[in-house]
Amino acid sequence: MKPLRITVWGENVHEHQHPAVAAVYPKGMHTVIAEGIRELLPTAQVTAVTLQEPEHGLTEERLARTDVLTWWGHMAHAQVEDRIAERVQKRVLEGMGLIVLHSGHYAKVFKRLMGTTCSLTWREADERERLWVCNPGHPIAQGIDRYFELSAEEMYGEPFGVPPPDEQVFISWFEGGEVFRSGCCWTRGNGRIFYFRPGHETYPTYYDKNVRRVIANAAEWARPQGTWIDSCLNAKVPPEKISPKSR
Ligand code: ZN
Repeated sequence: MKPLRITVWGENVHEHQHPAVAAVYPKGMHTVIAEGIRELLPTAQVTAVTLQEPEHGLTEERLARTDVLTWWGHMAHAQVEDRIAERVQKRVLEGMGLIVLHSGHYAKVFKRLMGTTCSLTWREADERERLWVCNPGHPIAQGIDRYFELSAEEMYGEPFGVPPPDEQVFISWFEGGEVFRSGCCWTRGNGRIFYFRPGHETYPTYYDKNVRRVIANAAEWARPQGTWIDSCLNAKVPPEKISPKSR
């Protein structure tokens, strides 16, 4: 099997504006997310790109060489150009995998692909999160126990304004009492999409071994199963003869 080509997209803004975030991710969240994938998928080709690069690092060439794209964004969703969001959406429909992390629920790319508000309930209160595996046989849950915990995270709660997932892999419980569908799978066109909730910028979540395992598993799961470049074919020559009709 060909090496998996993974592009890690990072907004890379909080890290430069908020000292508390820079303290946790001095080289940016994208570098730590990429490191985690490299650690667990040593044969994968992992490249990190950021919003600040030309075309946000998501040129036609880059996307053509991407099997799976991961997306972390928050405060600069609006700075992502519509034409780039459309380009990513098109690649997902063609077959590229997409892993949307945490506050990426409001990314243009995710909202376009879901077609819904993607809204949720939230609270920043330093609370414990327990992620329950609800589908132990799913490829994304491999290597994870019945559940795992993060000692402090932001809370995301229901209702989550997404279409019903095709497959539910994780459900989170929070110390304050809320629950949330924290690991969800969809297919759009030929592309597989996984949304994974944890990853607030002030917490060391992307160093956590279980979080890293889930993201690496998801990258493998989201590998393109096939590619269809849509051309809206006008099949002028039919495969069989059409007999003339008398009217
Ligand atoms: Zn957050």
